[in-house]
Amino acid sequence: MAEIKMVDLKGQYLRIKNEIDAAIQEVLLSTAFIQGPQVKSFAQALSKDNQGVHVIPCANGTDALQIAMMTLGLKPGDEVILPVHTYVATAEVIALLGLVPVFIDVNPNTFNIEVNQIESKITPLTKAIVPVHLYGQCADMEPIMKIAQMNNLFVIEDLAQALGADYTFSDGSVKRAGTIGDIGCTSFFPSKNLGCYGDGGAIFTNDAELAKKIQITANHGQTVKYQHDSIGVNSRLDTLQAAILQVKLKYLAEYTRKRNEVADFYDKHLANVSFVQTPFRAVNSSHVFHQYTIKTKGIDRDKFKKYLEENGVPSMIYYPIPLHFQKAYSRKQFGEGSFPVTEKLSKTVLSLPIHTEMTNDELSYICDVIKKYHA
Ligand SMILES: *Cc1c(COP(=O)(O)O)cnc(C)c1O
Repeated sequence: MAEIKMVDLKGQYLRIKNEIDAAIQEVLLSTAFIQGPQVKSFAQALSKDNQGVHVIPCANGTDALQIAMMTLGLKPGDEVILPVHTYVATAEVIALLGLVPVFIDVNPNTFNIEVNQIESKITPLTKAIVPVHLYGQCADMEPIMKIAQMNNLFVIEDLAQALGADYTFSDGSVKRAGTIGDIGCTSFFPSKNLGCYGDGGAIFTNDAELAKKIQITANHGQTVKYQHDSIGVNSRLDTLQAAILQVKLKYLAEYTRKRNEVADFYDKHLANVSFVQTPFRAVNSSHVFHQYTIKTKGIDRDKFKKYLEENGVPSMIYYPIPLHFQKAYSRKQFGEGSFPVTEKLSKTVLSLPIHTEMTNDELSYICDVIKKYHA
């Protein structure tokens, strides 16, 4: 058996090599490297895939979050609520803009923001909530939207890990991740579910006026060429990446299906392993399995990880150090036990290999290695 990988971007590329190479060639020969026609056509295709939401492509997922917050007019000192168990980018842009990140613990089952704890953190300075759809499953958006409406707060969804996930409301209506709040922000980092071959990102909104403003912020605050009414940034998706994404988008549903097959295999074969808790499936969200993240029970996670590695099974910890313990984001009041669920997760979670090219042989081997572990 070949080496098992966390992600297999090369295998994925080789299956669609002809299409990708042709798309790249076309851009090279056109030399329209910035704002070529593929940027617009990719944005249109992505919009169609996401219930017609307005799509503004940008340079990466972190920029998407920053542009969202700039465009909503958030001002230094404003407070923004976010889960503490997330990738640093979510907190980073808040801090960078002089806003105050207000952390909330996560639900131990879904790994997403603990909705019951949001209201107690709302103050007169609170302006927005940033739910993160972690590992590929939507945060509980219905109650989040209710809290936001009651308190006049913006909702910015971080769907960098959950493009294509569906959330079902209690009335039966279904909305795609990133189309529920005021703005959705996603990333096309190579290892994301829809990844390009460099950096890329996009911003979603259903509000046509807001979409125009977002486009202006992403392009130097420029309304008409060389006319700048507001301070913006330079954040573009380059044409090569758009051309690559346009090809790959056609396969996203298939990729998601494949990821779900891998997850189902793990679920089935790890169900009776006493020291493994397989991922919880929320009833109101589909799962696109950006990560397949287990919780270890009653064993030393790091020793287990080492054992897997020694047996040729890679794994990753998302995230090993909670944000409130990171030097850049720690505060005096954040002692041990400030966010007990997140702190426990940082010691017990482990993400197993999951990607579009995994074989049943690899999966069987991984599950056998796991089952043979003696703590
Ligand atoms: C990847 C990621 C981002 C940032 O995306 P980049 O394109 O790397 O800037 C933001 N939030 C979450 C949850 C992510 O997983």
